[in-house]
Amino acid sequence: MKRNPYFEQISNRYLFQEVRHRLLHFKDKSPDARVISLSIGDTTEPIGPHTIQGLHDAVQALGDRATYTGYGPEQGFADVREAISKTIYQGKVPSDDIFVSDGSKCDIGRLQLLFGPACSVALQTPSYPVYQDTSLLFRNNPLILLPCTAENGFVPDLSPAASADILFLCNPCNPTGRAFSFSQLEQIVHFAIKHSITIIFDSAYSSYVQPGFPKSIYEIPGADTVAIELGSFSKIAGFSGVRLAWSVVPSKLNYSTGQPIKPDWMRIATTFFNGASIISQKGGMAVLSDAGMKEIDDQVNFYLANTKILKEAFTERGLEVYGGTHSPYLWVRFHGLSSWQAFDKMLQDMHIVTTPGIGFGQAGDGFLRISSFGSRASVTEAANRIKGGCLCSTQQ
Ligand code: PLP
Repeated sequence: MKRNPYFEQISNRYLFQEVRHRLLHFKDKSPDARVISLSIGDTTEPIGPHTIQGLHDAVQALGDRATYTGYGPEQGFADVREAISKTIYQGKVPSDDIFVSDGSKCDIGRLQLLFGPACSVALQTPSYPVYQDTSLLFRNNPLILLPCTAENGFVPDLSPAASADILFLCNPCNPTGRAFSFSQLEQIVHFAIKHSITIIFDSAYSSYVQPGFPKSIYEIPGADTVAIELGSFSKIAGFSGVRLAWSVVPSKLNYSTGQPIKPDWMRIATTFFNGASIISQKGGMAVLSDAGMKEIDDQVNFYLANTKILKEAFTERGLEVYGGTHSPYLWVRFHGLSSWQAFDKMLQDMHIVTTPGIGFGQAGDGFLRISSFGSRASVTEAANRIKGGCLCSTQQ
């Protein structure tokens, strides 16, 4: 068998594997070090009791002949789609346009099947590496990179994207933490309408968006003619291991030929995917209830409070810190150091593992992404180490 030649286009070591590799090397040399991870963006806090009950009930139902069920509908259970429509979109997105899935990352990969090999893709740099890697695995058209820098307030100049077919946007952005304002998002939607661009709007962190800023691209009139939105329960409800997400493919969204996109997305759901786990979907129903949404709010506020603690520590050290307001991530600049140099310094001097900004694209060099997913104790300890400049006892 011949290898898919497009594998040559993506680095063979995914960012977090390289982080793990360096961490293992460090631990080998310093086995007593108490390393704190502010690196991988994975949730750490237990899921609330109401949601856990929903998951339990789903498991119980599978053990009883009367309530056992096998495959569900590929698009997701109707009640889950309706609950997403009602609770996340206040009924403004019809449930029929919502597709429940096993994760936004998987949806990003499957979406590439819609676009085909000829299309041209634009994306923010730095941004979630999956947009770039999945795009490169499907085609060899050069990517149109839209730099998001401190100098442009992490809001890209869109003009190079005028010729693009697809524009990936992450809001709030992983890693920069930037959330678009209404007027910025309005300009982006108008640009996409004018240039017939389809936007893939990844709102995996939407619950972190503060009042006064759009959580969904569909808050902008006309967006349902140009945008697919991705939502996930991973970072908002601690479901990164449970696996549950959704996509919105509006009925009004068409290919440049005028054909609707939605039937093809349904075709992909039936051909490549057999629907999200019943257990996850029942858990999702619990999340989308009043009690579940309260649990989400509590978790989001908990992580945002962690972010504040870390932000204060970096600021006290005189570093340039961005993000953290609408996002569980800080984006910290280290003048005069490359990202990997800053990463090694934090690891060697403070025994703190972070994520090098360059892993999110060339424009991320010189930055570290700091995740606030962690217990209050470990975040506080990390903040103390950052303020103290070092070190951390190696004893337990
Ligand atoms: N989108 C962004 C921007 C992310 O940062 C992540 C995970 O880190 C995902 C999507 C993945 O979401 P899921 O767990 O639903 O696959």
